[in-house]
Amino acid sequence: MPQRCFDVHADGDYDVMVVGGGTTGIAAALAAAREGARTALVEALGFLGGNSAAVPAWLGFHDGVGERVVGGIAQEIVERLQRRKGATPVYTDPICGSVVGIDLSAWKLLALEAVREAGVDTLLHSRAVAVDLKGPAVCAVLCMDRAGLRRLGARAVVDCTDAGDVVRAAGGRLRRGRESDGLMQVASWTFAVEGVNFPALFDHYRRVPGDIRPFPGVDGGERLRRMASDEVFVIGSFRSLIARARREGMSLPRDIFPGVAFPRLGRVFSVATRVEEADPLDARSLTRAEFAGAGQVPLWLDFLRRYVPGFQDCRLAWTPHQIGLRETCHTEGDYTLTADDLMAGRQFDDAIARGGYHMDVHPPDHAGLDTRRPPAYTIPYRCLLPRGIQGLLVAGRCISATHEAMASTRVIPIGMALGQAAGVAAALAARSGVEPRAVPVALLQARLREADALL
Ligand SMILES: Cc1cc2nc3c(=O)[nH]c(=O)nc-3n(C[C@H](O)[C@H](O)[C@H](O)COP(=O)(O)OP(=O)(O)OC[C@H]3O[C@@H](n4cnc5c(N)ncnc54)[C@H](O)[C@@H]3O)c2cc1C
Repeated sequence: MPQRCFDVHADGDYDVMVVGGGTTGIAAALAAAREGARTALVEALGFLGGNSAAVPAWLGFHDGVGERVVGGIAQEIVERLQRRKGATPVYTDPICGSVVGIDLSAWKLLALEAVREAGVDTLLHSRAVAVDLKGPAVCAVLCMDRAGLRRLGARAVVDCTDAGDVVRAAGGRLRRGRESDGLMQVASWTFAVEGVNFPALFDHYRRVPGDIRPFPGVDGGERLRRMASDEVFVIGSFRSLIARARREGMSLPRDIFPGVAFPRLGRVFSVATRVEEADPLDARSLTRAEFAGAGQVPLWLDFLRRYVPGFQDCRLAWTPHQIGLRETCHTEGDYTLTADDLMAGRQFDDAIARGGYHMDVHPPDHAGLDTRRPPAYTIPYRCLLPRGIQGLLVAGRCISATHEAMASTRVIPIGMALGQAAGVAAALAARSGVEPRAVPVALLQARLREADALL
């Protein structure tokens, strides 16, 4: 057998290394660098933003009664985008808490600008594939690019990879999907259409109010008034139209059409495609998922043009860089956040972030969408600490949480709050030469509050 070897070259030593440059990793890197840590950020793709580059609306800055639960870096980024007309105002929503529309190009530019300003050493086009361990502690991450393997040493590492790649490489325990059967939420190939005639859509809503997405506590007239005046709103339903299209032979993958509408731009963003069993660890499975997701877009376009008033002349505006995975692997951490914690609005002593977004489970079977709405809840620091591993924190979708709890914490603002907490904790650990578990929680909380995070 011919042997192929990769060179391993040493490339820097850092206080904090963040792996994964999505919204969570960006927040982690900014937070660590602002604490004075020499910080590296490693990202497999050629841009920063991850899944947020295919999602033009950030949900969940508020809980269901309009109280703000996320501040800090996430809030700062939105305000910076707003100042350059790259984000809409934030509108409250009784199910999603709140929605803010994001201009994806403006966000991608700002992401690069923000990490450069903060002095983060950013390495794109590099995938973390292995770690070096000193006993149970991660002390370096090995990243792969076309030149071979690059070894980056770090006193503390933050895994923001969405699937817990660093935890896995370090021998940590991860679980997949639902506790009962391991199945994960469905994935979606997001897309947007433009050229939508909103006045015609609103006329339809007046005639068939059942096609409006439910908006608890707000009557139909007020709902329509808000839809006509807000720059962005969460759209859904078209229930009667989908039922009719199905009766007439269309095979649509969902009973409703979830997404976000931008009336002033004549644009609608959709997450209506539905792909089951996309295995985040298997390229063959992911490839099948990309084909399946893309394959559903023409079907939805056909439905919109034929059945939905206002969409007759709509055209495809954009498609994502890759399929969006709502759920991947959950780290087994020092504490596992549960749906009961959320529904009880539990206030943990070691809280490092808050949430209030609904339990947005897109189920792997054909059960309806889960819309349980927790009150404002907190997330404990222990959920960021992988059991049995030292020198490592997790943030984002791979924190230690159940399938249901993660369905609420997975949205962008809450992910960024977790990233910010992990970044500060990693910097504090590196500065005092202790392992992240030994960081005094009161100090971590104080530093987060000083940085406008809400705990
Ligand atoms: C279809 C869909 C629709 C959604 N809609 C909304 C919405 O409307 N509003 C909202 O707020 N949230 C929404 N979400 C949730 C939200 O988009 C994500 O949960 C959030 O963007 C996750 O951010 P993240 O940084 O934790 O992970 P990601 O954005 O997935 O970022 C992880 C990054 O890590 C990189 N990476 C992975 N492995 C490695 C490795 N080994 N080495 C180096 N880099 C690596 C990836 O390339 C990626 O850039 C949606 C999610 C999906 C899937």
